[in-house]
Amino acid sequence: MTKVALLKCGSYELDLLKDRIAEALSLIRFDPARLRGAKVALKPNLLSAISADSAVVTHPLFFRASAEMVLDHGGKPILMESPAVASLDNALEKAGYRGIVEGLSIPVAPSGRAGTFSHQAGKMFRYFEVIPEVLDADFILNMPKFKTHELTFITGAVKNLFGLVPGMRKSQMHIRFSDTVSFSEFILDLYDAVVRGINPPGGILHLMDAVMALEGRGPGSSGTPRRMGLILAGEDGIAVDYVAARVAGLDMRKAVTIMNGFSRRIGVSGPHDIEVLGEGIEQVEVPGFVPAETGSSATILQKVISSRMVRDLFIARPIPDGNTCILCYQCMKICPANAVSKSDAKERVPVFDYRKCIRCFCCSEVCPEAAIHLHRGVLQWMLRL
Ligand code: SF4
Ligand code: SF4
Repeated sequence: MTKVALLKCGSYELDLLKDRIAEALSLIRFDPARLRGAKVALKPNLLSAISADSAVVTHPLFFRASAEMVLDHGGKPILMESPAVASLDNALEKAGYRGIVEGLSIPVAPSGRAGTFSHQAGKMFRYFEVIPEVLDADFILNMPKFKTHELTFITGAVKNLFGLVPGMRKSQMHIRFSDTVSFSEFILDLYDAVVRGINPPGGILHLMDAVMALEGRGPGSSGTPRRMGLILAGEDGIAVDYVAARVAGLDMRKAVTIMNGFSRRIGVSGPHDIEVLGEGIEQVEVPGFVPAETGSSATILQKVISSRMVRDLFIARPIPDGNTCILCYQCMKICPANAVSKSDAKERVPVFDYRKCIRCFCCSEVCPEAAIHLHRGVLQWMLRL
């Protein structure tokens, strides 16, 4: 049974936020002494360079209250985030974080570099690129914003970790996994890889900013700010997302990151495993919360950019080298898309079906002879030039 604290918090006042966060931690029996001396990765949602009034980003005072809690208990925070398109500098400036990180002397990890790690339990993906500093963190403090999302239906604790994937690599993931289910499964792979793969020694805590949430056409500025007046806390991100989505009265069948998260048993296996503390879900339900329409224009755009032609232009394709391949078929065994088959009569290399290939590059990673080369797409070459 995992605990989720659900507390009212009517506004972004620093003292109020600090009180509520302390109360939430006490309710879930989280001992802040766990933070003492720990290198703590602070992961807010800074999707883009936009004002906090938009409710697109974790509010800067929510971030400040959480960061001060870490500092007060002897932790060593470092901010980690990689916005989707904007530079991290711009995002910090526009969202009102700059003065806070400077005032509290919180270092900011560079957002463009990538460290790799593997987590073999992944369903769609087993090799991940993330901001390298997170691999050395003793503790992760995830600070998602609760928002609707036109591809994944909701974005909360689970999806927020996607911001650890550096810059443009995020777009490539969107191209590879273009529909709701495959992208949500990839997001669950990443969540699982962080929770059970990186598995920081001190653990992971999810503190959700749902004081102002985003409804309708989220997760960006097309969505509409909506007051929920809540904060949530828990050590299981899927459970935190479930409680937030229930409060918003959303159709849980559409929340693939929650429902498939339950069935994959990355953490809790279902609602019966969740103890809600503080307010009851029914007491704070938000009537008429507008859901995202998955399948709307954003998803159609995803379909366009995921077409084979566009994928070939933007993403490298794995090509086996007949001079070094020893036909061990490790690539065929690991391929999650069944895109590799045995060599045919003409070629002394495995046959790759690029219509099926999702460009996860697991084959290239496992090949013992380094016989799989990545051939850049035409547009990748042009951009390099
Ligand atoms: S893993 Fe490498 S060496 Fe083995 S069959 Fe595939 S390409 Fe050839
Ligand atoms: S062929 Fe290689 S890159 Fe393509 S899906 Fe299979 S393992 Fe991934």
